[in-house]
Amino acid sequence: GDGAHVPVLVIGTGYGGSVTALRLAQAGVDVHMLEMGQAWETPGSDGKIFPNTRTPDYRSYWLRTRTKQPLSNFLGFPLDKDVPRHAGILDAEEFAGITVYQGRGIGGGSLVNGGMAVTPRREHFGSVLPSVNPAEMYDVYYPRANAELGVNHVDPAWWETVDCYQYARVGRKHAQRSNFAFTLVPNVYDMNYMKQEAAGTATKSAVDGEILYGNNHGKKSLPKTYLARARATGRVRITPLHRVTSVTRAGTRYAIVVEQLDTSGNVTATKTVTADRVFFAAGSVGTSKLLTKLKATGALPNLNGEIGKGWGDNGNVMCGRANHLWDPTGTVQTSIPTAGIDNWAAGGAFAEVAPLPTGIETWASFYLSITKNPNRAQFTWNAAANRVDLSWQTAWKQPSITMAKTIFDKINSKEGTIYRTDLFGAYKIWGDHLTYHPLGGAVLNKATDNHGRLHGYPGLYVVDGALIPGNTTVNPFVTITALAERNIERIIAEDL
Ligand code: FAD
Repeated sequence: GDGAHVPVLVIGTGYGGSVTALRLAQAGVDVHMLEMGQAWETPGSDGKIFPNTRTPDYRSYWLRTRTKQPLSNFLGFPLDKDVPRHAGILDAEEFAGITVYQGRGIGGGSLVNGGMAVTPRREHFGSVLPSVNPAEMYDVYYPRANAELGVNHVDPAWWETVDCYQYARVGRKHAQRSNFAFTLVPNVYDMNYMKQEAAGTATKSAVDGEILYGNNHGKKSLPKTYLARARATGRVRITPLHRVTSVTRAGTRYAIVVEQLDTSGNVTATKTVTADRVFFAAGSVGTSKLLTKLKATGALPNLNGEIGKGWGDNGNVMCGRANHLWDPTGTVQTSIPTAGIDNWAAGGAFAEVAPLPTGIETWASFYLSITKNPNRAQFTWNAAANRVDLSWQTAWKQPSITMAKTIFDKINSKEGTIYRTDLFGAYKIWGDHLTYHPLGGAVLNKATDNHGRLHGYPGLYVVDGALIPGNTTVNPFVTITALAERNIERIIAEDL
């Protein structure tokens, strides 16, 4: 309530926030988490909590009146449609040069993501987090994160034969015929549950294409892992539909301004609470926007000049390939990706073989590539418009396209196939307008010390993807989780 005091406030309930809350609670500290999205515990009129990817509805988008589907078109037809403005689960946040997709609700990105749980190759770690000792990460914190997240592997024998991974096997065949390394990657989706779905003995979820707007069954999202254990301590309270708008110094404490939202996104109350310590876990974009605004408007003037800098898109770029009629990718495609083409060392690209769970045969192979794009953008405060801008430009994706082409030009030439031009708008090959993997903006050892303590303000910490300088070489959430485990261990030992 208004005027309350808490020892620790955590802003956001994604990976960084969930790790932080669990470990602080286990150390005997009472933690209050604020989350601007919904709790996602109550079924809608169809009896399901989350809507299907094929039928987006009022639950699907964060405060938009029209859907903004990552694949905007199919066979030349635009797919987007009007929806009522609602505090939905997927935010397609638009900046001038890029749309950044993010999860909204208790669990953050874990609610909407593909669950690919990939630890970077150790030889690449120096480029991911240059100030962090790789030995402690690979010996302690990556294993800890993998165990707590419930990372598991698909049974290779089952993967070889089941219909719903035909698209991935076609992806492998084409990769291997062009001599690219092809790897199965771990996931947090419960692979035994998926086996039962495919066998018809459990309610279908991934096999029915659920992804992007939540998953009703097999995905081990944060509310089933870290947050369940955090709540079980009895020391963690989570309040949904509360958005933090300000943090300022109040004597030896911090004062936090919070807007309470209704499910249409209207502000129904504004409250001020105080806390001894505040952990920024609002995600790369959320944390960076808050800190950039607070520094520029004088609320936290002593934050250093690194705030807002070093933001990258993890080199995300999408494309589709048109297959020959003898290479169908299957009418049933599980939404959970398990495989990728690794051309990082030679070409700077790691391409996930992604599903197109349309329910019909598309003869398309679809890929989300993570590339070594060197471009970095900055968040700045736009006082006239009262918002935070991001300097990323669409043309900055060109290095990513060039790197992805090291894989797909070669495969197309070997197979005698072409790129699809109908998935992102008319005659557009590259999905270069978006990212699923925002990283950076309050970079470790620059905006903060080497464990996430913000310079200039004892008791303020960054614990999420904002710490990572723009690229993880693979999908990011295992690294975000492992880094949060590393940092909170040190903070508990030294600061409490
Ligand atoms: P987040 O998980 O983004 O959590 C931040 C939370 O803070 C959110 O719940 C947000 O609502 C809340 N918040 C923000 N601002 C405020 C505020 N002012 N007040 C209160 N609350 C606030 N990664 C992988 O590793 N593998 C994948 O397969 C994968 N697939 C993806 C697919 C999609 C469609 C998307 C969108 C992402 C995917 N990702 C994947 C990325 C991954 O989900 C993110 O990297 C991860 O969630 C980031 O974790 P985080 O802790 O930094 O923040």
